Amino acid sequence: MENVKIAIIGGTGVYRLPGFKEIQQVLVETEFGSIPVKIGIWSGKKIAFITRHGEKHSIAPGCINYRANIKALSMLGVKQIYSTACVGSVNPDYKPGTFVVLRQFLDFTKNRKSSFFLFDGTQEGEVISHVDMTDPYCDRLSKVFIEAGEMAGIDVKDGATYCCMEGPRYETRAEVKMLRMLGGDVAGHTSFPEQVLAREAEICYASIGIVSSMAAGIEEGHVNAGVVEAAMEKMFDNVQQILMNAIELTDVDEDCWCKHSLDGTVHQKS
Ligand SMILES: [Zn+2]
Repeated sequence: MENVKIAIIGGTGVYRLPGFKEIQQVLVETEFGSIPVKIGIWSGKKIAFITRHGEKHSIAPGCINYRANIKALSMLGVKQIYSTACVGSVNPDYKPGTFVVLRQFLDFTKNRKSSFFLFDGTQEGEVISHVDMTDPYCDRLSKVFIEAGEMAGIDVKDGATYCCMEGPRYETRAEVKMLRMLGGDVAGHTSFPEQVLAREAEICYASIGIVSSMAAGIEEGHVNAGVVEAAMEKMFDNVQQILMNAIELTDVDEDCWCKHSLDGTVHQKS
């Protein structure tokens, strides 16, 4: 099996990495399913690349095999994941075109396998871990995103709370109002449970939100997938630059709390 320490999970609009070279496509078989992963050299480092929705955006948010994606990366040796998330803004201060580092989430999904520890007690030897989620995204890699933005002269705002909705439909006016009241900044359909699974796999994980539109009811008019895709197209060069800088700035061997996140997470029998 390959040994790759760093990975990118590309969300909506990030289906390719220009300049990605020496690409090798591998099919990683996990207990949750098989995942195609591209491995190659980008920004001077060996990386693994997965497109969350598939290269043709054919996998709906609730149907993404999150567990297989993270497990496959873990099996390849990945210890750092950078991901992108196309988001709608529920915060009037975050206009379309803004980049935000996700630091917290609110989960409103309904139908996802959100843990590697979904055991029912029928199998011998299965042990449930309860991981800490106080700060669900890796602080070390989140800071790298900020530095990567500064390096590129692109404003990257820190500290966004991401609201994960089930999708694929967009939110109602009332839902957006609720999210704002609860302290949410941006809404999307796919960031959860990637960060939880990464934490359970002891992988550092950070995510950058790309604000492509205002969420429902913040401005007049309807939310439209064409508008979202067009905004992503416009922001693609900057997304790519931030990711390239982040890869360059990453010390892949640096220790981090996330890499020991399962320590002390199991209830010991008395
Ligand atoms: Zn970390």
